[in-house]
Amino acid sequence: MRRALTLAATGAAAAAVTASARRVQRFRPVEPEPAPLDLTGLDADGAARRLAELIRIPTVSSRVPGETDTGAFERYRQKLAELYPRTHAALEREVLGEGALLYRWRGSTDDPPLVLMAHYDVVPVDGQEWSRDPFSGLVEDGYVHGRGAIDDKGSMVAILEAVEALVAAGVTPRRDVYLSFGDDEEVLGVGARLAVQAFTERGIRPWAVLDEGGAVVTGMFPGVPGRVAVVGLAEKGVLDVEVVTSDAGGHASAPTRGGAPARLARAILAIEEHPFPARLHDVVLGMVDAVGRHAGPPYRALFAHAAQLRPALAQVLSRAGREANALVRTTVAVTRLEGSPAANVLATRALAHLNIRIALGETVRSTVDRLQQVIDDPSVELRVVSGSDPSPVSRADNEAFARISAAARTAYPDAAVAPYLMVQASDARHFSQISDSVYRFMPFALSREELAALHAADERISVATLHRGAGFFRHLIAHL
Ligand SMILES: [Zn+2]
Repeated sequence: MRRALTLAATGAAAAAVTASARRVQRFRPVEPEPAPLDLTGLDADGAARRLAELIRIPTVSSRVPGETDTGAFERYRQKLAELYPRTHAALEREVLGEGALLYRWRGSTDDPPLVLMAHYDVVPVDGQEWSRDPFSGLVEDGYVHGRGAIDDKGSMVAILEAVEALVAAGVTPRRDVYLSFGDDEEVLGVGARLAVQAFTERGIRPWAVLDEGGAVVTGMFPGVPGRVAVVGLAEKGVLDVEVVTSDAGGHASAPTRGGAPARLARAILAIEEHPFPARLHDVVLGMVDAVGRHAGPPYRALFAHAAQLRPALAQVLSRAGREANALVRTTVAVTRLEGSPAANVLATRALAHLNIRIALGETVRSTVDRLQQVIDDPSVELRVVSGSDPSPVSRADNEAFARISAAARTAYPDAAVAPYLMVQASDARHFSQISDSVYRFMPFALSREELAALHAADERISVATLHRGAGFFRHLIAHL
């Protein structure tokens, strides 16, 4: 996760626009005002303690085979069973592959199930300056500190606190509830794919799938003073490409003009100077539409006419900061560079690694084709290392989305609910194969600082936020 977006816009063009039919299905807010969230029976301090215990088990994912401490993952699974005994007694549990967990809680009907997702691997802390030990699981001044406090052990604990309390109260959900907990999300591993495979083999199509992604954010939208719960409907594709060009090499005392490094540099500059086109996709339009109704002037007028101002708004967003830019186009980051291995040797090969996030409406193929056109040099080769197309877009006009929105509004009555495009990849994308209702939302109100600490130093979650998150999941399960 996930820095949510910054929208900056000007109101100038709005007045000139005439109303016309929207091509986008309008997102419908849930009315009337919900009753306040019931938190009785959910133990805030206990939840914080349990999260702290889980943070103390360093389930750090590594892309290097053999470098992951599988013993820590094993201990984590045992600890879950110890901390949530009722859940482990009442639900059926399977371990898929190396350590992905799939729990089934049987409901009272055969209606299609709800799937609640989280992952228990975390990113490393190497090179980060923490003010506290990232794996001490310290609870201090109303916060639980440590790696995974939010991403994503915090989500997992909020889910389990809800399930444990409901089981204790003798509640049976109306439909089956599955808990799908990945062990390798941070390294784009196979855990979630195995869960999807299990559902496919059993012929189960979930009613809804809910994973990390959006959150309840403040101050992200100019002109929108309050909080907004952003629920991800889709995510961009990810593509890793190597740009490679070769030469004969030789001694650096007698170089040739236009060698491999120079050609590579030209290719990188061409990519930089020809960004992918900015387009306002329906999902982003739906987001602008939903927050627009909570905006003050002049933004309200601009956002209200977003559908007619699509091209202009795409341009405005593309210049409104890097997060807003990422919402409207395919982005290309040059990450690794390689040339000659020695100071006095000409490069036989120059290589740049591109990490690309593909906009909705484009594909791996179309992205590579466009890069080739832009580079326009037959001596420069593009090699696809790995790639996945953008996810399909989940529905926002159905009962599942309405229920999740209602639970968000119950937990955060002052917040607007808006659909959202995730610019990062998550495990949830695999579930699009078996459901058109895959949503990305963490029921946590997070400040800019808290969001910035994800995958960085000083990750933490407030005890009150964790408590409210558990309340959200309990409300959702009780109202299926
Ligand atoms: Zn995560």
